[in-house]
Formats: sequence, structure tokens, C-alpha cells
Amino acid sequence: MEKETKSVVVSGARPTGRLHLGNYWGTLRNWVDLQNKYGCYFFVADWHALTTGADKSENIAANTREMVLDWLAIGLDPERSVFFRQSDVKEHAELALLLGMVAPISWLLRNPTFKDQLQELHKQKYKGQEDKMKQAEGVTKQLAEAHGHDAGELALHSDMATLGFLGYPVLQAADIMLYDARFVPIGRDQLPHLELSRDIARRFNHMFGAPVLTEPEPLFTSSPVVPGLDGRKMSKSYGNTIGIFEDAKGLETKVKKMYTDPLKVKVDDKGHPEGCVACAFHKLYNPDWKAREAECREGKVGCGACKKQLIELMEKELAPLRARRAELAASVNPEELLAAGAAKARAAASAKMAAVSKAAGLI
Ligand code: ADP
Repeated sequence: MEKETKSVVVSGARPTGRLHLGNYWGTLRNWVDLQNKYGCYFFVADWHALTTGADKSENIAANTREMVLDWLAIGLDPERSVFFRQSDVKEHAELALLLGMVAPISWLLRNPTFKDQLQELHKQKYKGQEDKMKQAEGVTKQLAEAHGHDAGELALHSDMATLGFLGYPVLQAADIMLYDARFVPIGRDQLPHLELSRDIARRFNHMFGAPVLTEPEPLFTSSPVVPGLDGRKMSKSYGNTIGIFEDAKGLETKVKKMYTDPLKVKVDDKGHPEGCVACAFHKLYNPDWKAREAECREGKVGCGACKKQLIELMEKELAPLRARRAELAASVNPEELLAAGAAKARAAASAKMAAVSKAAGLI
């Protein structure tokens, strides 16, 4: 009963690969805490995975199952939260279709990540294939010129700018509003997306003259940006990640590879912790990181010893997660869990869709 009165929180993750420590510190740890206070819906956003990767969909189903085991291992609890696969609950697509009737394309084009992400996808697709990249850019340019569009509008004519990709914020809005979410946990950089969801809800309610959609509010979660081994943001696309469930040997090898202050060559050289990846990880795993930084600055510790301690500290936290995951992999069928979650999600989603369809004059 108590759960009914809790505010609803909705959040999803795309099954585009194995989870890494950036995902863990940036998102998942917050999810585990949110379960204590809110009625949470966590979904594997498999349709969203297709918005940027329809050409590499072969691992989506397997990644989805792995992700569910990962979630369980870090403490997400299917007794307290609903977790499910987005494509199991067709109402997500149905609501997105209706929202698409009121969401102007100009709003979607203003989405700041559309062009940036498109450029990034383009770079990834043609990595190491300069000729092909030039060719594709040429075609895009020709199409733009044929439509009388200038350089600023080039992105629109890329063959990667699909309807699904341009429209993913509409699907996101549907994901959230289907469950009357009061809150969406986000970092400040994602605020424009949430504003767009709110605008769409407001326009829908106004157009159909019924307050049927709830405008979600941001729940700002404090989360560190975790650097990858090379010092850039940890990200699958940079190939600089440490997996949450990396084995002990892999962890050791990766920590040893971490970028450190290039000016600190000898043990007693004075170091500069800012920009040093090992120091950033001490902040996450070492309660005495301040003392460690002071020693580094004073030239009292070398990078080798610093990394050795870091490996021990990380192993202490990650080994139990790894063991728990192995147990779960042997005992839990993720598909069963997803099916049970989908049934719960569907009950809420279909009731909402009935109300929305009625408001839209369909029934
Ligand atoms: P990737 O860049 O590896 O593809 P995603 O874009 O799938 O990661 O990220 C999923 C979630 O994890 C996002 O909410 C994002 O904010 C968080 N996240 C990803 N990488 C990091 C990082 N390096 N530091 C903090 N949070 C991160």
C-alpha cells in the first residue's frame, strides 16, 4: 500500500554494451538509493538503442539480459522497483506516436544534442575510412543544396539523421509520461531534454483541453564525471572504460595503464593530481584521498605505489559485486524477471493510454 503513495521516478538505460564504472558512479548508484524513497520504474531502453545504432542491433537482446543481471548485482531490487524492457510494453510506442502529433519538428531540431551526436556518430561510422567519409559528406552537401539549405542545416541531410533519431526526445517523453512520473533523475546537462518533455506535455494538454499528462520535474542527482583510462570522459565510444565486473587481472592491467601526470617521472618529483586519472579514482575509492593527494604534491609517493594501493582499494569494493553477479548469472533467468516487470509496467501503461486516447478524441 505504502508504495502507491510514493512519487514515481522513471529512468532508462540503453543496452549498447556492458556497463562501466562511469555508468555506475554517474547513474546506477543513484538508482539504488532512489528505490528507498520513490516508486521506481527502470527500463532497458532497447528501442532507444536503435535510434543511433540500427545497423548494429545484433547484440541488443543479449546486452539487455546482461544488463538486468548487472542491475541486480549492484542492488536494484525487483521487489521494490519495476524493471522491464521498453519494447515489451508497446504503449511506449503508442504514446510516442500520439505525442508526435503535437511535437513540432522545429522543437526537435533545437535539441542541442542532435547535431553534436550526429557528428560523433558520423565520425565513429567512418573511423579510418577518410574516402568514404568525404563521399558521404559530399552526398549530404548535394542534398542540402538541392533543398536550398545552408551549411547550418547540413545535419538534416545526413543519412544518419533518421526520423527515429530526430524524434528520440518524443519517445523519451512517452517513456516518462506513461507512468505519470513526477521526477526524472538527471544531470544538469540533460535539462534541455526534460524541458522538451515538459513542453510536449503542456502542448498536448492544451491542444486536447485535458490535463492528462503530468509534466515531469528534474531530480538533480550529484554524480561525478568519471574519467576513462586516457583522461577523457569514460565512454564506450572512446574504448577507455573499466567494466563494473571486470575480473581482477583486467582491473589491475587497466589501472596500471591509467594516465598520470606526465611531469612526474621520478618517485620524488612533485605531482599534480588534477588531470591524473589514478588520483580521480582515489577520490572515488579511497576515504583518505586528500592525504594521498598531499603526498603526491609533495613528491612523497610515486605513481606505481599510488596505483598499487588503488588496485587493492578497487578490488575490495568490486570483488563482492563480481561474486554476486556470478551467483545471479547461475540462478536467475533475466527473461523471466523482465516478463514479470513488463506485466506490472503494462498495467500502469495501458490505463494511462486509455485516458490519453480518450483525451485525444480516439475513444
Ligand atoms: P557511454 O558514453 O559509455 O555510451 P552512456 O551514454 O550509455 O555511456 O551513459 C549512460 C549513463 O551513464 C548516462 O546517464 C551518463 O550520464 C552516465 N555516464 C556515462 N559515462 C559516464 C562517466 N564517464 N561519468 C559519469 N557518468 C557517466
